[in-house]
Amino acid sequence: MPIYEYEHLGREECKLGCRFELVQSISSEKLTKCPECGQPVQRLISICAISTPKTASDLKNHGFTKLVRRDNGVYENVTATGKESRIWDVRKPETMPDLKSKIRD
Ligand SMILES: [Zn+2]
Repeated sequence: MPIYEYEHLGREECKLGCRFELVQSISSEKLTKCPECGQPVQRLISICAISTPKTASDLKNHGFTKLVRRDNGVYENVTATGKESRIWDVRKPETMPDLKSKIRD
């Protein structure tokens, strides 16, 4: 079950603190009141602990290779590093991404 973060909207002290986390099933209603003190609360957009690399440079930094199809049999390696060819033409093996160089311990 996901963990949701709530924030008190009221100003009263609460022993849960200003913000608290609550494990709730996806289907359960979001709380409008603190279960401890009864003040109004709002659910915060959860910050996922596992971040997924999104941009080409993130991917590159994490050692991934991202290929974008540009034509039939032609891919752009948007995460090309070092001496890798930016364009991979499947008919030209020498342009293939150098995946072995990305494998690290
Ligand atoms: Zn409270």
